[in-house]
Amino acid sequence: MQDFRKWAVKAAEWGVDYRARLREMPVRPPVQPGEIAAKIAPSPPEHAETFEQVFADFERDIVPGMTHWQHPRFFAYFPSNSAPASLIAEHLVNAIGAVCMLWQTSPAATELETRAVDWLRQAFGLPEVFQGCIQDTASTATLAAVLVMRERALNYEGNAKGLFDAPRLRVYCSAEAHSSIDRAIWFSGIGQDNLVRIPIKGPLRGADPEALRQLIHADLAAGYLPAGIIANVGATGVGATDPVAELAAIAKQFDLYLHVDAAWAGAAMICPELRHLWAGAEHADSIVVNAHKWLGAQTHCSVHFVRDPASLTRTLAAKPDYLHTLGLSEVVNYSEWGVPLGRQFRALKLWFVLRAYGLEGLRAMIRNHIAWSRQLCERLRTAPGFEIVTEPAYSLFSFRYAKPHADLDQLNLALVEAINADGRIYLTQTRVDGAVAIRFQVGQFECTEDDVMSAYDVITEIAARL
Ligand SMILES: *Cc1c(COP(=O)(O)O)cnc(C)c1O
Repeated sequence: MQDFRKWAVKAAEWGVDYRARLREMPVRPPVQPGEIAAKIAPSPPEHAETFEQVFADFERDIVPGMTHWQHPRFFAYFPSNSAPASLIAEHLVNAIGAVCMLWQTSPAATELETRAVDWLRQAFGLPEVFQGCIQDTASTATLAAVLVMRERALNYEGNAKGLFDAPRLRVYCSAEAHSSIDRAIWFSGIGQDNLVRIPIKGPLRGADPEALRQLIHADLAAGYLPAGIIANVGATGVGATDPVAELAAIAKQFDLYLHVDAAWAGAAMICPELRHLWAGAEHADSIVVNAHKWLGAQTHCSVHFVRDPASLTRTLAAKPDYLHTLGLSEVVNYSEWGVPLGRQFRALKLWFVLRAYGLEGLRAMIRNHIAWSRQLCERLRTAPGFEIVTEPAYSLFSFRYAKPHADLDQLNLALVEAINADGRIYLTQTRVDGAVAIRFQVGQFECTEDDVMSAYDVITEIAARL
């Protein structure tokens, strides 16, 4: 490519300018389905085009159709922070363009991954017994965990024999669990009918341990084979958190595998005062925390801690001749710890983020987010017509606008849509006990107290117009 340097520098500078002007842009773009596709040539060019043209089209046709996840007033879903230090690390990773599947396909990537994961282990206060790797997403980390659950329950014969003559496996999680767990259950061949929902109780909407014991006893009596439990720490809907220590005791009693899904809220465990919320995680067999959500290392960066890596490699490692690393029996090959073979160099951004901000810097951010979320929750609690549906869990709460004589589900769906069409902030909805509630999470890396408080004006102003 001609002018490689010029365009590489331009792309980096464009990124800096883009971040600087985010507050002036609508968080969600005002576009209709098909609008962007209509602007893109239907067929590829036969001959090279100038890069001026390519870049100009990117700015004109693509950027206005983006939802700006790094916008400081992004309060929807969960954050997917790409801290400046992470962005810079990704520039370097992109330049190198390595595939980090085996130790020898990039020794530094493998060894830095081991270190960076161990740094996070220490940051979360987890015991030394945990090792881990960086998967692309929590979905694949959980799939790997469910596959281990299956193989462990079947004496590691499922891969060879399939499930046709196997006893009926059972896995337990609460109704608050993320859809990635359902999908892992489908893909593992265990089947949705064998994912047993534990009733929830209490203000944290956590799984009821007594109910779980009864479910397991009933399954054993029916001749089924319980394989594992998946615990929530900060589930996606409204931040539900299970009593992990009690689930761990049950896992031990019945010899079940325990996987903890702390994809979002796990990041908060760098703050010692919050660790009571996942007490017992130290007894889990595996834990997933997305460093690519709240912590600041951009997607994909899903940290998967495991107590016994051999259970993972026994389940997932294939060793065809072309993957043998001759004379290197002692090295770690992280592709054997996950589903995909090819892997990006994901540890560099985590290392950069931890060093550029320090644990104290990251803790300050998380504590601010939690405090601001509570402040906004208190203001909305006293705003006429508003009610709090679920109390703040970490930095997430949910609320509802309740006008007399209105269909509240319709009203609140209309409110979310009107707020998002306005563009100043971005929110999403969920259902709590069957009824629509509006979620509000604070977590964007560069959001300020003013950004959060300005949401109060936007929400109340738009609700008054409905
Ligand atoms: C986001 C999230 C997931 C899925 O994460 P991916 O990395 O997108 O697969 C799973 N569980 C919880 C609790 C989440 O918040």
